Amino acid sequence: MENVYTICGMCTVRCPIMARVENGRIVSLQGNPHVPAMAGGLCPRGSAGRALVEDSERPQAPLIRQGERGEGRWRQVSWDEAFDYVADRLKVVIAEHGARTVAMTDRGGPFRDMHRALLRGLGSPNYCNHDGSCARNVQHANLSVTGLGRKGVAYDYAHARHVVLQMRNIFEAVDVQEVNTLMAAMEKGCRLSVIDIRANVSSTKAHDFFMLRPGTDYAFNLAVIHVLIKERLYDVAYADRYIQGVDDLTQFIEPYTPEWAETETGIAAAHLRQFVRRLADAAPAVIWHPGWMTARYRHSFYVCRSIYMINALLGAFGTKGGLPLANKPGDVGRNGLKKFMDLFPAPEEKRADGVGWRYTHFDKGPGMAHLMFKAMETDNPYPVKAYIAYRHDPLMGFPDPDHLKRILDRLDLLVAVTFSWSDTAWYADVVLPLSTYLERECVLACKNALRPYFFTRQRAVEPCYDTLADWKIVGGLARRLGLPQLDYKSIENIWRFQLEETGVSPEAFAATGMVYLSDRPVYRDRDQLSFKTPSGKIEMVSGHLESHGITSLMPYEALERPPQGEFRLTFGRCATHTQGHTVNNPLLFEQMPENVLWINTTAAAGMGIEDGDRVAVSQNGYSETITAKVTDMIHPEAVFVIHGFGHTCPAESRARGKGLADNKFMQGGLDLWDPAGGAVAFQEHFVSIRKVNESSTEDGAANQTAA
Ligand code: SF4
Repeated sequence: MENVYTICGMCTVRCPIMARVENGRIVSLQGNPHVPAMAGGLCPRGSAGRALVEDSERPQAPLIRQGERGEGRWRQVSWDEAFDYVADRLKVVIAEHGARTVAMTDRGGPFRDMHRALLRGLGSPNYCNHDGSCARNVQHANLSVTGLGRKGVAYDYAHARHVVLQMRNIFEAVDVQEVNTLMAAMEKGCRLSVIDIRANVSSTKAHDFFMLRPGTDYAFNLAVIHVLIKERLYDVAYADRYIQGVDDLTQFIEPYTPEWAETETGIAAAHLRQFVRRLADAAPAVIWHPGWMTARYRHSFYVCRSIYMINALLGAFGTKGGLPLANKPGDVGRNGLKKFMDLFPAPEEKRADGVGWRYTHFDKGPGMAHLMFKAMETDNPYPVKAYIAYRHDPLMGFPDPDHLKRILDRLDLLVAVTFSWSDTAWYADVVLPLSTYLERECVLACKNALRPYFFTRQRAVEPCYDTLADWKIVGGLARRLGLPQLDYKSIENIWRFQLEETGVSPEAFAATGMVYLSDRPVYRDRDQLSFKTPSGKIEMVSGHLESHGITSLMPYEALERPPQGEFRLTFGRCATHTQGHTVNNPLLFEQMPENVLWINTTAAAGMGIEDGDRVAVSQNGYSETITAKVTDMIHPEAVFVIHGFGHTCPAESRARGKGLADNKFMQGGLDLWDPAGGAVAFQEHFVSIRKVNESSTEDGAANQTAA
């Protein structure tokens, strides 16, 4: 029996895990025992990793499309032929249209350096990650308030006295270490407050739960700031020292009383005041989480900004038990990893998505995929002719997949690099199958944290099928595209290159899978904090935003409410599945084969809908059927589904046709995004619901109809 210390790949959290391997097969998976906060555990998805490895319903060899896009006629080819094919097609695109017309998207994360370097080596600036459909508003909000990215602060749950979750469902969108640490803190007396439009699992563990009218989070938060300032509950000494613009903020929040907010949110003014006082009692050891999936409304950026402003007023930034600053290797006197990206100069071309020149207030790094798709559609500012979807399924992850398919049809080349089938892979010209996370090793990565560390993913078992690790796929393409700098013979050589200036050897990872860069968590001196804003302070009025013509203190504007008989379509996560890519996993499918539609009891009664009834969800002539979950635990203006269901890919026999795909009810949604934060506004779509007669044909095996 061998223990292999590696990194889970069943969701983007990437927990440290240990695989027990016997005779080349995985016997069990568990949390890395050398990481105390894992407590040896995994979430349900992490535990189901073995079923992914053994699943025959995933791409098993390189495939080149034969028929029309999406038709599903493939030719299985060797890796040499696949690499030659992709490289030759890329060379033609580059020769005819220029290197800038090649784009790539991925799901971000710590292991992307090499494939980003490949794109940069080709000379294209058009790398995007999925964040425009996820956390871009949070990133931009923290940059505007403290000058730090969203990962520039840690969440010190272990020492927190009050945690507030808003747009962060921690006990379902699980991060194992966060869950364990928060649970332990709550056992020691930490309060938990949850703000949501439905009673999710996190709310069932909370001391306080606020069920808001959908789309009114900003009103709630403005009223919180009002009480903090008017009752002088904020940390005045901290504000005097570190916060700029409190006077402007004081003037701005004048009209936003709890009584005013009550009419918007439905939350009693007295309840809100009591909550704020409790929060102030616990300060500065408080964490108001700024959210993960904040691509919700056209003003969600300002919700995120208000959260960071509240954290600042409570003195939580840079504070033990609050949001202490995360340390990079340099902060603890160590060198970081060498980057493959730095082997190539940054392309001078403007980005196709407009980030950095048309949209100068956005952070350049990972761009905005939906704005890149717009360029693909319009050839403005220039065409995008080749697109590599690298472990990314935009047809499931962005609104309006039919619209996106029409955009993808304009491409000369669409390549999917993936370990599982997806709607995007099925629509591709070439599928390059990645080994599953248990069958591949990765480049080294660095986690910035109170106690920063290097880590890597190690191969636990040999691949079942004809699949390859990322570095081999990048190397195979790089060899043919004239980029020998990325063509490595072994992963050890890659690790040696990355570790050159760190004083750490590749062998150091064998024992636990990670190497800490300090001997303990390092908190910065709270009396010596500095922030990376133009003023060097935490900015209530952002110098960066204002200099780009974006207001810092946005007056509240109520969102349109659903018309009579319609509902706002909302979606979220559960602990059993990760977006779309686990629905076909045999073990997880068995646990949860389809999603259901949450609908409020009173609203359902008005339409004669009972719990368990089949209902039709419709929008603009498009309709699907789903089972209703009738409950008091959701606001009457909204309906809710778990995201990731309603697959159409024929290769996934289990997931295909099961449940409802929320993004199909977001027609026109690719063009609906937050102008200040940049992220897509997923939850600005309304649907109508009606009960379906069980005997009618529309409730047959095929659950989709189009008028
Ligand atoms: S949260 Fe679960 S699925 Fe995600 S990385 Fe951790 S164990 Fe894996």
